[in-house]
Amino acid sequence: MKLPFISSLMTAAAIASGTLLTCIPVFSQSAYDSRFIEYPTYNGDDLELTVDASGTHFRLWSPKAQEARVNLYDNGHTGKPYRTLEMKPDPDNGTWNASVPQKLYGKFYTFQINWNGEWKNETPGVWAKAVGVNGKRAAIIDFATTDPQGWQNDKGPKVDNFSDVIVYEMHHRDMSMHPSSGIANKGKFLALTEKGTTSPSGEKTGIDHLKELGITHVHILPSYDYNSVDEANLQNNVYNWGYDPQNYNAPEGSYSTNPSDPATRVREMKEMVKALHDAGIGVIMDVVYNHTAENDGSNFELTAPGYYHRHWDDGRYSDASGCGNETASDLQQMRDYIIKSTKYWADEYHIDGFRFDLMAIHDTETMNQVAAELKKINPSIFVYGEGWTAGDSPLAVERRALKENVSKMTGIAVFSDDIRDAVKGHYTNAADRGFATGKPGQEETVKIGIVAATNHPQVDFSKGNNSKFAYAASPEMIVNYVSCHDDLCLTDKLHHSMEGEPEKNMLEAAKLAQTIVFTSQGTPFMFAGEEVFRDKKGVHNSYNRPDSVNAIDWNNKSKYRDQFDYYKELTALRKAHPAFRMTSAGEIAKNLVFDKIDSAKTPNLISYSLKNHANGDEWEEIKVVFNGASHPQEINIKKGNWLIVAKDGKMAHDASLGATQGGKITLAPYSALILARP
Ligand code: CA
Repeated sequence: MKLPFISSLMTAAAIASGTLLTCIPVFSQSAYDSRFIEYPTYNGDDLELTVDASGTHFRLWSPKAQEARVNLYDNGHTGKPYRTLEMKPDPDNGTWNASVPQKLYGKFYTFQINWNGEWKNETPGVWAKAVGVNGKRAAIIDFATTDPQGWQNDKGPKVDNFSDVIVYEMHHRDMSMHPSSGIANKGKFLALTEKGTTSPSGEKTGIDHLKELGITHVHILPSYDYNSVDEANLQNNVYNWGYDPQNYNAPEGSYSTNPSDPATRVREMKEMVKALHDAGIGVIMDVVYNHTAENDGSNFELTAPGYYHRHWDDGRYSDASGCGNETASDLQQMRDYIIKSTKYWADEYHIDGFRFDLMAIHDTETMNQVAAELKKINPSIFVYGEGWTAGDSPLAVERRALKENVSKMTGIAVFSDDIRDAVKGHYTNAADRGFATGKPGQEETVKIGIVAATNHPQVDFSKGNNSKFAYAASPEMIVNYVSCHDDLCLTDKLHHSMEGEPEKNMLEAAKLAQTIVFTSQGTPFMFAGEEVFRDKKGVHNSYNRPDSVNAIDWNNKSKYRDQFDYYKELTALRKAHPAFRMTSAGEIAKNLVFDKIDSAKTPNLISYSLKNHANGDEWEEIKVVFNGASHPQEINIKKGNWLIVAKDGKMAHDASLGATQGGKITLAPYSALILARP
């Protein structure tokens, strides 16, 4: 999400502490919205447009419209309609229908409804799968012509457990816009199809870099058609994260090489997916069904006024997104829409996962159905989201897909803001330090992250900063991270909070922070470029800032090669050792044992073992110790034959750093010690 001051945590914390409860109604819908429950719904697969042997067919869902029509155009954005079709109502299911006997490939269309005696503005509808430039008109294309070669056999990586996934969150422009990327199709879907690209000093960039790093999935920031970038004037080179949805079922035009040709964006996005799949990498899409860029001007509002958004009793838009409105997943047609739309991306684009923005705006029942339906298409599809809202909602708290409600859902994971803020310091206060940068008192919250917020006999959840109970029933419900596109990225956070210390300390603290994430149970998630110590010039909320702020400078890869090599070892260690990827809360409680450390006397020190060849690991025991203090700290390791996996800022997943017999070992400031007993 793009808002500077609305905090995931504030909301979650406010809800957890009950401060919001007083103003939340018991009923799911407001009095205003309860009228929509009576609307007839339509769940067929032919909504808005189908082309078949008998011609082109339009079916618009708009139960209370007085009239409806389709405008047909030769062009995607200029000129008048060459023909207008009156639509006939089907009152049983609330749809309006019109057909022509020709296949109208190459043409464009808009819908218009008569509402209270007035024709509303034209809209491409809510189901446009291809659009003209800037997404104002829907396009009729033959999708069979958009498939890259070999698409029939294209498949993403198979995932047995979601703890096996390593997520790399990226924006198309961040990855490729900088001149040092060596990539030709800068800022485009095609950037990730280019092989053999390098930085000026010869370091791999683009897709080769991703392979070298060893992540399993890229998570691409919103890539459906969004509102803020003028696709007709790309020379203006505008940047946006894309959390302002316009057409949920068509790719964003500015990421294509020709936004005026509706098939190009479809084909190029598929080519990107195919290239990543060929490299063994899955593709997760960031989806923002929780709100629309516009209120009255949104496609939802122009097709079925009032229905798709939530409102307060007095009819004002409610605004749990902090962006002016929120959608109503608890109403059947909207719920079906989210389910069908994600299924469409999984089917047509072979998408391997979905990250739900402000997921708690949606209800748990919708999220359960989304996950269940997607897993019918492909059991490897990973569904996770932000388990919070950015404001109050008419939806009852117990129905929200909140972090605290994740155990009421099946096949859904949530981000752990617990580990995020405890490790690096609170995101609302740039100067605040965390466990990995010397702030005492964070140990118990870090442990909550280490056990993936599952019930553990040695973790006292009452001491957690953000969450006071073991909210995850399984490690597959947790995504651990220390930073993402939101807020200060890790490098900037360290620059602020460690001001006055040498850069070397920041590099060590960055390694330690990510070591905590990558060795914790649950799914690790990292923000693109942190492996080369990328920064965002200290900009906290960079959603509409230029490439000069957001683009990753790939010269960093040689400058901070040591950092990159360490991250590479982190992914390799995690992939080679299933002990870090246990699949049940019971296994974690049994095999993950914390060493007793009095945090009041020796803060910023955590030590634990993964025992019993956990989860089938070849190593009998793995000892993991973190020193987040700015001074060296000593730990007493049980005597035995230990191989050194990580020590003093170095890591080797094959435990080739030497051996030790245990006893007293000193950890350098801001560093991890990992030992293995085969
Ligand atoms: Ca757009």
